[in-house]
Amino acid sequence: MERLKEARERIRAARRVAVLTGAGISAPSGIPTFRDPGGLWKNFRLEDYATPEGFKKNPEEVWRWYAWRYKKIREAKPNPAHHLLAELEREKGEGFLLVTQNIDGLHQRAGSERVVELHGSIHRARCTVCDFRTELPAPEKLENHLQPKCPMCGALLRPDVVWFGEYLPPGALEMAQTAFASAEVAMVVGTSAVVEPAASLGRLAKHAGAYLIEVNPENTPLTLLADLALREGAVEGLARLLR
Ligand code: NAD
Repeated sequence: MERLKEARERIRAARRVAVLTGAGISAPSGIPTFRDPGGLWKNFRLEDYATPEGFKKNPEEVWRWYAWRYKKIREAKPNPAHHLLAELEREKGEGFLLVTQNIDGLHQRAGSERVVELHGSIHRARCTVCDFRTELPAPEKLENHLQPKCPMCGALLRPDVVWFGEYLPPGALEMAQTAFASAEVAMVVGTSAVVEPAASLGRLAKHAGAYLIEVNPENTPLTLLADLALREGAVEGLARLLR
């Protein structure tokens, strides 16, 4: 209880706060995570759906999977955890940065503006050859066009997300690292903390002197390092920290 009190006080007093979120924060909105029981990787092979090689082998099948996830995400709504972080941003202003591994756009829909999307967005497609990027059409339309072509050069379009083995969007990691290295309080919410380089942001903050808070119902490689690890869901945990 004392620790929770201290964490709340630290958050209140901090001018610089950095938050990293993962799939767990969107689980209460009905979007499956990757690695939990019932998570996406239990039913789909990562190599087939989230690698450039998988896309090259069967682009239509990969687009079908993304169209299915896109539809589910469009139907989902931000939950109170997303809203609490948007509120925290309004309180802290320029000293706040939210870094997310999620591709669902739910933070922005909850009102967050200072967001770095490390793994891209499921709401966009980009050309496999040139620089063309576009918003996806409505899910029903996408489902009937599973080999979308670039209007500029005619090459195949792909989801504008980061797959395993690919580089992060230019500048995204640098912004995230700068925020975590200078944060007084760093929070890591709903991520298994096993995918690099996102996983190392918590460590970076801690080594630079931040007060590190983790919110996750399960232990992660970050748990032992955290000053406070709340073993609960994002909605409950963030409410206790921020309400
Ligand atoms: P992950 O699937 O590896 O881990 C999810 C974590 O969330 C687990 O540690 C789990 O214990 C925790 N969790 C489960 N329910 C929770 C809850 N209610 N509140 C808080 N935590 C909860 O997810 P990750 O670490 O984000 O893995 C990274 C990859 O997953 C990223 O590449 C990301 O793009 C992708 N992903 C994104 C979405 C999305 O955009 N919503 C969904 C699935 C996967």
